[in-house]
Amino acid sequence: CFITFEGGEGVGKSTQVRLLADWLEGQGKDVLVTREPGGTPGAEAIRALLLDPEGTDWTLPAEALLFAAARADHVARVIRPALARGAWVICDRFIDSTRAYQGGEGALPDEVILQLHGIGSGGLLPDLTVLLEVSPEIATRRLHQRDGLASDRIGGRDAAFHARVARRFAEMAEAEPRRFSRVAGGVEAETVHMAVRACVTQRLG
Ligand code: C5P
Repeated sequence: CFITFEGGEGVGKSTQVRLLADWLEGQGKDVLVTREPGGTPGAEAIRALLLDPEGTDWTLPAEALLFAAARADHVARVIRPALARGAWVICDRFIDSTRAYQGGEGALPDEVILQLHGIGSGGLLPDLTVLLEVSPEIATRRLHQRDGLASDRIGGRDAAFHARVARRFAEMAEAEPRRFSRVAGGVEAETVHMAVRACVTQRLG
């Protein structure tokens, strides 16, 4: 099974990925945890190009191509082999992050991003995508608590940008209710985890 976690900055994706992995491992399942952008040496090298605050200010299409290239390597070398051996793959961000961050209103058309995904990664989609949602206030507060980390490692993004990203995620979840589960992330991590468990059990058995 292939499960992805999506959502804006500070929604608690990495914590929930870990809690879900621990739970599934506790049931004796073969679990692979990975993240985007990254997950292979090549994709981590692209991650460094994308997230270096001193680095290049990429144009939107260049950014989308770099994410697609990183994902292509990650899917071919890590995700597909793990799925082929029957593992549960849990990935922190995937194609929907590109659709939300580099796509949408005034940015790249969704079809173009999905086309790149088709070329790079054979259009692989998750069996379940957990969309974690929190209010902008909570997201900002959590990011300030993350020691020393800038609220967004790709420069020049403001609150309006993050509000647009959150809206895009919500639209995608509404358009694909069979793949997405929306989970409120603004409460205690253990409570969120229980909601995530319920989704996984209900959708994937
Ligand atoms: O929260 P996480 O560590 O996954 O964040 C990685 C960074 O990459 C964030 O700043 C996020 O906004 C950015 N990102 C992006 N476009 C994507 C995926 C991630 O701008 N498609």
